[in-house]
Amino acid sequence: MAEQTILRTQNLYVECKTNKGVFGEKTTIHAVNGVSLDICKGEILAIAGESGCGKSTLAKAIIQLEPIKSGEIFFEGKNTLSSPQKVLSEFRKKVQMVFQNPYASLNPKMKIIDILKEPLEINTDYSSEKILKTVKDKIKLVGLDENCLNLYPHEFSGGQRQRIAIARALVLEPEFILADEPVSALDVSIQAQVINLIKELNEKYKLTFLLITHDISVIKYLADRIAIMYLGEIVEIGKTEDIFNSPLHPYTKALLSSAPQLNKTEHKKIILKGDLPSPANLPNGCKFHTRCPYVMEKCKFNIPQEKGISHKVSCFLYE
Ligand code: SF4
Repeated sequence: MAEQTILRTQNLYVECKTNKGVFGEKTTIHAVNGVSLDICKGEILAIAGESGCGKSTLAKAIIQLEPIKSGEIFFEGKNTLSSPQKVLSEFRKKVQMVFQNPYASLNPKMKIIDILKEPLEINTDYSSEKILKTVKDKIKLVGLDENCLNLYPHEFSGGQRQRIAIARALVLEPEFILADEPVSALDVSIQAQVINLIKELNEKYKLTFLLITHDISVIKYLADRIAIMYLGEIVEIGKTEDIFNSPLHPYTKALLSSAPQLNKTEHKKIILKGDLPSPANLPNGCKFHTRCPYVMEKCKFNIPQEKGISHKVSCFLYE
């Protein structure tokens, strides 16, 4: 794994407003709360956590699809939140996103060739020959035949559509891909094709991935490092083998123990009490204290600081 940082977030906060109640009063959702992450060039960093923990919002905030309340995002050393338009357009070419649902993310009225040409026509000054060559190269790269370019999205299976979505992300020759639950909408039988494609793109072409998923077995197979997210905070981060072999944070232990795919002797089952609190009403102190089996008095009023060097955890048990 290369050590050069390609993307860094510093103390990132994202808040969303939603309408609530019959009178439409606004509620503030504290989706991302002070996330600082370094993602190394060429690695696959997975963000894991329950639904509603803020992982998808974090990915969207990185490519500025969500409004950022405060914090910084650096890509290749440049601050993307205060960069001139030219730097920002370069960033948008180099960082692409693959969404969860390939059924919804491809325009059903467009042929595949037009779906793949569109980003090149908007973002480059390539000749029409170069655009066509790029499109053909990328469709082959994802394991599909160029004959499929004249078909429409509905003529493909879910796995093929997700490959097309990945080809669309690749046409601008990105360096970094945010993959938000890239296989969760697919049948189990075809998930492996897309998982193996991600692995190949990472290993052969050194593409960096931020992988958002709740599927622990996908993470175990693909990720170099894992960040565990709870209520918009990273509570533990480390190399995949360290997180699986010696998880530290009580939430990480519970999350791993709940994965049906893992060998039950690997992680003793831990049942957490209660549900994930609402991100509209965050607990004080350690945000996990309302469900933590090891909660202490100080956890209810104080926020634990991150400790560690390559394997980091935020929990008073390690202070
Ligand atoms: Fe549990 Fe306290 Fe650690 Fe939070 S700081 S995870 S409540 S022990």
